Amino acid sequence: MKLPDTKKNNVDSEAITGMLKRIIGENGRDHIGGYSIAIACLILVALSTAYIGYIMKLVIDKAFVDRDISDAWLICVSIFLVFVVRGFAGYFQSVILSKIGNNIIARYQRRLYMHLMTLSVGFFSEARSAQLAARISQNVSGIRDVMNLTITSTARDFLTFISLLGVMIVQDPVLSIAFFVIAPPLFIALRYISKRLRAATREAVVLNSHVLGAMQETIQGISIVKAFTMENELERKINKLITAAEHRQNRIARLSERNGPLMETVAGFAIASLFAYAAYRSIYDNVSPGVFFSFATSLLLAYDPARRLAKLQVQLERAVVNARMIYELLDMEPRQRELPDAKPLVVTDARIEFRDVRFAYGDDTVLDDVSLVAEGGQTTALVGPSGAGKSTVINLIPRFYDPAAGAIYIDGQDIAHVTKRSLREQIAYVSQQPYLFEGTIRDNIRYGRPEASDAEVEQAARLAYAHDFIVAQPQGYDTPVGENGVTLSGGQRQRVSIARALVRNAPILLLDEATSALDTESEAAVQKALDEAMSGRTVVVIAHRLSTVVRAEKIIVMQNGRVVEEGNHETLAEADNGLYARLNNLQRPAVSGNSRK
Ligand code: ADP
Repeated sequence: MKLPDTKKNNVDSEAITGMLKRIIGENGRDHIGGYSIAIACLILVALSTAYIGYIMKLVIDKAFVDRDISDAWLICVSIFLVFVVRGFAGYFQSVILSKIGNNIIARYQRRLYMHLMTLSVGFFSEARSAQLAARISQNVSGIRDVMNLTITSTARDFLTFISLLGVMIVQDPVLSIAFFVIAPPLFIALRYISKRLRAATREAVVLNSHVLGAMQETIQGISIVKAFTMENELERKINKLITAAEHRQNRIARLSERNGPLMETVAGFAIASLFAYAAYRSIYDNVSPGVFFSFATSLLLAYDPARRLAKLQVQLERAVVNARMIYELLDMEPRQRELPDAKPLVVTDARIEFRDVRFAYGDDTVLDDVSLVAEGGQTTALVGPSGAGKSTVINLIPRFYDPAAGAIYIDGQDIAHVTKRSLREQIAYVSQQPYLFEGTIRDNIRYGRPEASDAEVEQAARLAYAHDFIVAQPQGYDTPVGENGVTLSGGQRQRVSIARALVRNAPILLLDEATSALDTESEAAVQKALDEAMSGRTVVVIAHRLSTVVRAEKIIVMQNGRVVEEGNHETLAEADNGLYARLNNLQRPAVSGNSRK
């Protein structure tokens, strides 16, 4: 499953309207109360602004032309009150909208995170993780922006604009018509700019995620970078990406600010013409000066909302583009649906059987007619050259992927027909590279079974030969590990992850033995921990150690996605011309598939 192609950026107006409807529908309903109050406040702001435009006529005519002091007082008090109302209404709407906005972001982050967990493992190996992370952090705000823009622009800017326009028409219809003549060409120019801005914004998001990805790659592979002296090479590569991103951002800045000079020029022209006309009317037609002051004030006050409304489309489209990426993720169907009649798995012997299983990641067949049995309570070792399909066999058991043909049975139950949760609860997994999560050592072990007591966690740690080094840590079991915690050695991390598998106490253990060499002492401790973990369970192990293979009850030799031999160490080692015998003759690398190449 690929991330949707971000280059396809021709968001047509229909798609935008559809997206707007969806965003407003989903969020408007949930926050109807808050939005109603905010809209009421915004209407107050709009009306008070229009009042200020209107009252200017009276200010001039009563105070300066008629020189009536009692009217002047009344007018001044009303102006003061209107400003106070405007200030408070503006404050409340802003606080309410921010609160709702923050809540929208929090809810979409939760929703996205939960949704991501329902997607199959395959999705994550194909999607660039940096791109995903960028999407979640940057684009969720798009949904908030759509809501806030729509509400502030309709309730405040549009209403303010319309009521000021009303004031202008009442004061001088001829001038108002002139105003309508100027507006349309302006609108067309703005549309053109918005189109180009849209394309640039999408490209910038993609470019930024490339920069992020390249940095992450370097950080994760820093030892390789240094060992192969790749610094200059990588620097050149990332420099190019950063420069491209910088240019794209500059372009966005230029495009989105281009509206500024355009509007200023037009506004200057409009105001100059207005005064020329006013002077003419006052001198030759004897019209009261209050009319022009009211008109001019209204025009000036209408400038801000009009400018925001003109920018609205650009901003709304930018927000919709961001929001659309979020919805593309949210709309992604989990590939492995649970069957409606899925039952919980009932484990008795924990016998695993593959029947004619075929599997492909994409078009290349990785497993071809694989049939094998891992007997309950016994250890089955998978050996074979790298790329033979051993990890794939392991991945199919907890249903990280589903076979294209054939089926997998546990105690006679097809795992495609049982609930994934019940299946995975019966399985413990120790990966080649132990992964420790942010949190304490205790937390990391307890992930194996969240309801395990402290005593059970400690017992598992003892069995995994991890207790001693854990209590030697500064805060014992409560020592933080992970990205921001203490650094544990490779062997220690492995023993923590074995303790995690032990505390799960599941009848099936899937094990990908580490290929990386540990020091002898750690190696011995890890081996003892593994022996403990393996005893009494059904174990399927990708074996890299000779000792594991020798002790396994059954060895399955794989090559090119097929099972080529089966047996135990003695029978297989003696078979003439067998792959296992040949591998075994190469001594240690014999069973260490990955080091064969
Ligand atoms: P082994 O564990 O024996 O080394 P794997 O099961 O990892 O073999 O891989 C079998 C084949 O499947 C290899 O050719 C490998 O390139 C391919 N493969 C493994 N994982 C993926 C994946 N996530 N996407 C596409 N191809 C994959």
